[in-house]
Amino acid sequence: MKPCALMLCLLTATLTAALAAPVALVVDGKSDHVIYCDTNAPSSVKTAATELQTYVEQVTGAKLPVVNEPKEPMVCVGANAASTAARVTTDGLALEGWRVAVRGRNLYILGPDTADDEQTPQGGTSNGTRNAACMFIEKFLGVRWLMPGPHGDYVPKMASVTIPDQDLQGAPFFLNRRVPYIQENRAEVKQWGARQRLGLSLSLYHSHNWTAIKPEAFTQHPDWFAESGGVRVPPTGRYKLCVTNPGLIRAFADAAIAYFDANPKATCFSLSPADSAGWCECAHCKALYEDDPNGDLSVTPAIIQFYNGVAKLVAEKYPQKVLAGYIYAAYVYPPSQPFKLAPTCSSCGRRASTTASRSTGPSCSSAGTIWHPSGSRLRATSPTTTCRIACTTNWAR
Ligand SMILES: [Zn+2]
Repeated sequence: MKPCALMLCLLTATLTAALAAPVALVVDGKSDHVIYCDTNAPSSVKTAATELQTYVEQVTGAKLPVVNEPKEPMVCVGANAASTAARVTTDGLALEGWRVAVRGRNLYILGPDTADDEQTPQGGTSNGTRNAACMFIEKFLGVRWLMPGPHGDYVPKMASVTIPDQDLQGAPFFLNRRVPYIQENRAEVKQWGARQRLGLSLSLYHSHNWTAIKPEAFTQHPDWFAESGGVRVPPTGRYKLCVTNPGLIRAFADAAIAYFDANPKATCFSLSPADSAGWCECAHCKALYEDDPNGDLSVTPAIIQFYNGVAKLVAEKYPQKVLAGYIYAAYVYPPSQPFKLAPTCSSCGRRASTTASRSTGPSCSSAGTIWHPSGSRLRATSPTTTCRIACTTNWAR
């Protein structure tokens, strides 16, 4: 090798080593880093900065000052002029996604963030920087938030924290992540949820909604309502519908369309059945029913077919709106045959999404998934952002 080539190789190796050097954030309980957060950052970003300060101190004993001007070496929190100058941006990151990058001695922790009074196009929020900070705290500080409140924190002790030269990024798989019925309005539970990266960039409305077909419709359209013992049942209480009836599907779609007409900013309409029994016993509906693994009635195929039928009609006028429906109760188990929930993410943008909560069996899903009859999990077959929705509890049972 010629001397000049050798020099070039050595120089390149030296530069690479310099660029790839890990960041010593805390050494023996001391740090010269600051946490920089822009004054105009959304409150979720400021919270992320505080969380970082709190847990770095709890883990190492070093309290990094939070400052409003960039000052190296720093932990730069949120997307701002300093991160842009370092060419660490949120470009290409999905909503609520996160990025943690090392540049020289600086750390950049950021993600797409909605302003305090801003919503995503689908009615939610994006707290990407907060998610990034929580990911960082878990991954590099070893903290775990096992339950809400300070007693739920697991905080290891470390005298030194070194961050490898990395550029990590990712995003939540589901656009809507909630754990309901856990006293979620309490401050400590909200905080715990945020640390678990719960949240939603897509607002879903999925409550029981078969009252979208008014009982008065029975007079002219008894065949829209459930049959029992050979007769159509006048709707009272938690009445059921005949989900295979084309007129009913059209009427339900018209109700959704009328809702979106009257509420242009609304992003979602619910297709979820009423609670309790009373499923239609007409020949068309019964032909779709199955036994679940416990030998009980499963109406899942009929419900999914209904969801898809309504979604298809609504998409003709509102291809960007979301239709949501429970996977729950007598329709919580997967059908015996793999079933595509909706022709999602097609060019016409049709989609139906489902969400499950308080489910007692394998459940859940999202548009663009195939629901496997033998599995307790759904496999995403169309992992594009707009198709990833939903959430569940208990799906590991
Ligand atoms: Zn029926």
